[in-house]
Amino acid sequence: MPTLKELEARFLKVLPPDDEGHIIFQAEGVSLPEADGIMFLCPKCFAANNGPIGTHSVICWFDKSNTTGLDPKPGRWHPSGTGLDDLTFVGPGAVSVQLIGGCNSHGFVTQGNAQ
Ligand SMILES: [Zn+2]
Repeated sequence: MPTLKELEARFLKVLPPDDEGHIIFQAEGVSLPEADGIMFLCPKCFAANNGPIGTHSVICWFDKSNTTGLDPKPGRWHPSGTGLDDLTFVGPGAVSVQLIGGCNSHGFVTQGNAQ
């Protein structure tokens, strides 16, 4: 089971939309307490591809008010932990991460690892 760091995980912070209403988010230098979500390489495809080449990314938005309406939806996750090394998705709400379509990956984020 790869770690989130091996999957090039980054915390995401939603910024105010630009003048044309496009959603903008910051993906560098964001810590867990200020994060609105996380992006990481799909663990299923990472394993199938033996690495990042050709592997798509997964975005999980957290259950915060400013993620309402953002794609992908409707899933929202509640993070626990202090950062990438021990991040765990906990209830209430979704715990597993299921992708509909594509590779149909269905996994978990537990203690900084993703499967
Ligand atoms: Zn995948």
